[in-house]
Amino acid sequence: MLRNKSFVKRTRKGNIVRTVKEHYLRDDISCGYESCKHSVCIGARAEAEEQGKTPIGDVHLAAPLSASPRDSVQWGPHYLVPDTNVFVNQIDILERPIINNVVVLSTVLDELRGLSMVVYNRVRAIVRDHERRWFVFSNEHHRETFVDRATDESPNDRNDRAIRVAVQWLSKHLETASIRPVMVTNDEDNLRKAAADGVTACRMEECLGVYTECPELLDMMGSVSITERSGTDPNWEGYAEYLSPVQIQAGVKSGILVQGTLQIAPYNYLEGSIFAAFPDGKERRILVIGRKDMNRAIQGDKVAVQILPRSQWRKAPSAALVDEDEDAVPDVDTKTEAVQTTPSVPDTDKTNEGRARKRARVAGGKLTNSAATVAADEGAEGHEELGEFVKPSDVEDDSLDGEPTGRVVGVIRRNWRSYCAFLDPNFAHKGTKASSAPVSVSVLAMDRRIPKIKIRTRQVDVLSGQRFVVAIDSWPKESRYPHGHFVRALGDAGDKATETEVLLLEHDVPFQPFTKNVRADLPPEGDKWLLDIDRDQVASGKRRDLRHIDVCSIDPPGCTDIDDALHAIRLPNGNFQVGVHIADVTNFVKPNTAMDKEAAHRSTTVYLVDRRIDMLPELLGTNLCSLMSNVDRLAFSCIWELDQDATIVNVTFHKSVIHSKASLTYEEAQTRIDDPSLNDSITNNIRDLNMLAKKLRKRRMDAGALTLSSPEVRFRLENDSQDPVDVEMKALKETNALVEEFMLLANTSVAAKIYEHFPDSAMLRRHPEPPAQNFDNLQHALKPLDIQLETGSSLALAQSLDRAVLASDPYFNNLLRILTTRCMMQAQYFCSGSCTPEEFRHYGLATGIYTHFTSPIRRYADVMVHRLLHASIDRDAVYGSELTDKIKMNEQCDVLNHRHRMAQQASRSSVELYTNLFFKGKTVEETGYVTQILQNGFGVLIPSYGIEGVVYTAARDAASPSVMEYEQEAHALISHDKASEIRLFQRVRVVLQVDDKPVSANVSSMRRKLSLRLVEPVIAGLSIEVGELEALRAAKKARAASADEDSKIVEMVAKHPEKIQTI
Ligand SMILES: [Zn+2]
Repeated sequence: MLRNKSFVKRTRKGNIVRTVKEHYLRDDISCGYESCKHSVCIGARAEAEEQGKTPIGDVHLAAPLSASPRDSVQWGPHYLVPDTNVFVNQIDILERPIINNVVVLSTVLDELRGLSMVVYNRVRAIVRDHERRWFVFSNEHHRETFVDRATDESPNDRNDRAIRVAVQWLSKHLETASIRPVMVTNDEDNLRKAAADGVTACRMEECLGVYTECPELLDMMGSVSITERSGTDPNWEGYAEYLSPVQIQAGVKSGILVQGTLQIAPYNYLEGSIFAAFPDGKERRILVIGRKDMNRAIQGDKVAVQILPRSQWRKAPSAALVDEDEDAVPDVDTKTEAVQTTPSVPDTDKTNEGRARKRARVAGGKLTNSAATVAADEGAEGHEELGEFVKPSDVEDDSLDGEPTGRVVGVIRRNWRSYCAFLDPNFAHKGTKASSAPVSVSVLAMDRRIPKIKIRTRQVDVLSGQRFVVAIDSWPKESRYPHGHFVRALGDAGDKATETEVLLLEHDVPFQPFTKNVRADLPPEGDKWLLDIDRDQVASGKRRDLRHIDVCSIDPPGCTDIDDALHAIRLPNGNFQVGVHIADVTNFVKPNTAMDKEAAHRSTTVYLVDRRIDMLPELLGTNLCSLMSNVDRLAFSCIWELDQDATIVNVTFHKSVIHSKASLTYEEAQTRIDDPSLNDSITNNIRDLNMLAKKLRKRRMDAGALTLSSPEVRFRLENDSQDPVDVEMKALKETNALVEEFMLLANTSVAAKIYEHFPDSAMLRRHPEPPAQNFDNLQHALKPLDIQLETGSSLALAQSLDRAVLASDPYFNNLLRILTTRCMMQAQYFCSGSCTPEEFRHYGLATGIYTHFTSPIRRYADVMVHRLLHASIDRDAVYGSELTDKIKMNEQCDVLNHRHRMAQQASRSSVELYTNLFFKGKTVEETGYVTQILQNGFGVLIPSYGIEGVVYTAARDAASPSVMEYEQEAHALISHDKASEIRLFQRVRVVLQVDDKPVSANVSSMRRKLSLRLVEPVIAGLSIEVGELEALRAAKKARAASADEDSKIVEMVAKHPEKIQTI
C-alpha cells in the first residue's frame, strides 16, 4: 500500500522544512516480542534474523524484547515506550544499562533525527547493543498503526496520536503474553488523552520509581523542584528578564547592542568579556562584571550586550582574584560577591543593586521590554524615558574613561554542556545522613568559570569526595544559580585515573577505544602487512622506489609514532638533494570510511603525561605508517634541490616507498654530528642537513620569524606506580631545530602547491598579527626597565625581543618571550577560499603561506593536506567533494581548531595534575618571577618547574584588608608602609605546597590547588614568618636524609610533548 507522507524537519538554522515522501505500509512487521506467537511476527522474525536487519530502515536489528521484562506492582511485566521528549530530555538516564526492554517507535526516531542528531545517535547506539533489548517498532510502516494527519491537527499532535495508537495496538497484541507496554511521557495533554483512550501511560518520574535499587536515577531527572534558599534572602531580587529575540535583533541592527561569546576570566569567575565587532570594523573587548550583569550567561554562551554609561566603566586595569569555592557560607553570596567585586567596582553592596536596577530600566526603556523592569522591581517606572546608555559607535574614540563595560540583556545561543563537578564541601559536611529523600545541594564545576549548580540528590554521602558529571537544565531568573541534574559518577577525587578522565571530559577529548567498525577499516593483513610492489603501484612507477636512499628519522626518545624521516645527497653540481618523507597515512585511511570519520572527529592525538590518546588505531600509528628503520614503509616525499645557501632550486612531490636506515633520538643525532671519528653516510647526511638547516633558520629569523617560549617541563615517573618522582625542564638540542627547520620548509612548499591547485578549498594555517593593544600591560611594565617592544611587525618585534636583555638577570629574556607569547593570537586552520591572500600570513613564522603536512599520524589537518597534495600532483587521482567543498572544508577547520585548542589545554592540565601529585606532601622553596599583577595578589612563574601560581595579598573575606595596595600608575602592589613593592618581572622567593588534607575536607583540597607563599621580599603580614620558614626547612632536610636515594626513576613518559607545537 502506498501513501504519501509529509515529514517535518528542522534544519540546522532552525527553519522548518517539509518534504513529502512516498510511504509504503506493510503487513509483515514484527512487534518485537521474542516469543510472540502471532504468525506475522514469527515470519518477520525469521526473515529479519536471516538479513540481520529490521524489515525497513537502516537500524540494525537488536535482540528482540525479552519474554521476561521488568515486573512491577502497578504494571506487571512491561516494556517502556518513551515519547520523543523523554528521549531528548532524559537520554542520560535511558542510557543506563538498567533500562532494558524499551520500544523505540519509528515516529519517535524520525522526530529525534530532526530534533537532535546527538540524541538520535545515542539512541541508535543503544539499539545496536544487544544486551539492552531495545527494539525499533516500525509503527509508521505498519498498516494497523499508521495514522493520517487530520485536517486541523498539528504535526506534533499527529505524532503524539501515532504514539498512542501504536501503544494501544501493542497492548492488544501482547495481551495474551501478559506483557504491558507503558507509554512514558511528561506531556500533560498526552497523559490525559492516553487515559481517555485506555492506554497505560506514566510520567518519567513514576517510571523510574520502579527501579528501587537505583535511587540515583531519580537524581538524574531534571531539577523541577529545586528549592532556593536565596528565595528567602530579602536582598535578592532576581535577574533581569531577557529581551526577546526580536528585540535583540533590532537592538543589534540599530547599533544599540553588541553581540559576542562570553569568556570568563580564568582567575576571576565574576569577570567576563566579549569581543564584539564595532561599526568601524574593529573588534573591541567589552567587560561584563559580576553575576548581575552577566545575567545568567555562562562561559561560552553567545550573548547580546548593552554597553554601560562611561561613568560605570571599569577604571582599574587589573582584576581581582576570586574563587567561588572560597565562600565560607554556601548560598548566601550576595555579600561575598559584593566584597569580591570591590577591588574592581568600588561600590557598596547597596549601590551595586541600585545600579542593576537602573540598568534594567535603561534596557527596558529603549527597547520597551516592560518585563525587564518588572524583574527589576520598578515596574512603575518601566516606560520612563531612556536612561543613560552608550552606543557602540560612541566607544570608538580612545579615552581615559576606563574599559568599556556592559551587561548581558539576552542570550543568543547557550553553550551548556556536561560538567565534571564535586559536591560543595561546605554542604557535604553538614551532612544529611542516610536520608532517602532528595535534598537540593550546590555542586562546583571543575571549570572555575562555571557558576555553582544546584542539583537534587538522594546520595549526598556517596557523592562527598567524589567527582561526577552534572548537566545544567535551566536558569530561572528568580534563582541565583542554575539548576541541573546528576548524570553519572566518575570516582574518588585525587585518584589519578578519575582525575585523568575528568580532564579528558572537561576538554572534550574523545577517548573511547576504537569501535569495531573503525577497526574493520584496518588492512586485513594486520601487522603482517608487507609492501606489495603491484598493489602499492611501485611496479607501475606511480609510487617512486626510494628504498636505496640513506634515509633516517630523528625524534624524541621513546617515540613510536614516527611521521617524518629525512635524507640529504650531495649532487654533482655542488647542490644538495634534500628529502622530507612523511608517513603515507592516506594510503590506509580512505575518505569517508568509518576510520576516516573517526580520525576527523578526533582531529588530533592528545598527549598526556602518562599516556597518549591516538587519532588513529595503533596498528597504523605506531606500526604500518610509522617510518621505523629497517622496514619498507610507504611515504609521501617532498624533495628539493637546494643550493649551497639552502635556497630552493626546485621542489617535487612523490608518493614513495622508503627503507629508513636509522631511527635516532635527538641526542644520538647530536652525538653523531659532534663525534669527528664518525664518517658513515648517515652521519655525513645529518651534518649536511644541519648545515643547511642553520642557513634556513637564519634566513627565517632575518625575515622576522619569532622565537617564542613557553615554560615546559617533563616528568620522570616511577615505573610501576607512575607517580612523578622528578621534574625537569626540557633542554632543546640543535638537532631539534634541524628537524623543525625541514618540517617548516616542507609545510611551506606543500602549502604553495595545494593552493595553486585548489585556490578555493586548500586547507591552510594562518597566524594573525596581534593587535598592538594586546601588548599594553606588558609595555607598561617594561617602561621602568627602559625596554620597549616594537610591535609594528614580527621582524621589529623579534629584534626588540633580542635586544631586551638584563645583565642582572639571564632569565629575563626568556621570561619576556613567555609573556610575549601570551599576547599572540592563536594560529588556526582555514580554508583558502574564506580569506584574502593577504590574510594567509603566518605572523610567527613570517611566511606568506603555511599549512600542516608533516604529521598525518597525529593531526587530521595533515591527512586532508595529503589528499589535496596527491590530487594536485596526480592527474589520475580520484577524489570527491571533500576536497573541493568550501563549506565542508570550513566546517572541518572549525572542528580542527577546537580540538587542537582542547588538546593543548588537556596536555597542560595533565602536567598540572602531575605537578600537584609531585608536590603533594612536599614543601619546596624556589625562585620565581612575577608574571601578573592583580588587585589582590600576583602571579608567579617558577622556571625550574615550569609552573605558575598566585600569591594572595588579601585574605578572601572582607574582615582582613589587603596587605598591599594596588597602584595604578606604577602597575604595582605597594605595601602600606611604602617600604616594599611587587612589580612585573620581579624576582621573588616562594614556598610551594599542595594541601594534603583529606580530599573532601574543603574546596581547595578538592581542587588540589598548589599554594604559593612569599619568602622574599620580606613583607610584614604577607611573607612566611621566620620561625615557620625555619621549621619548613628543617622538616625538608629531615625528609631528604631519610629518603630512599635509589628510587626507581626510569623513563620520561611525557611521550613527546616537544612535538606539540602551537605554530
Ligand atoms: Zn507480535
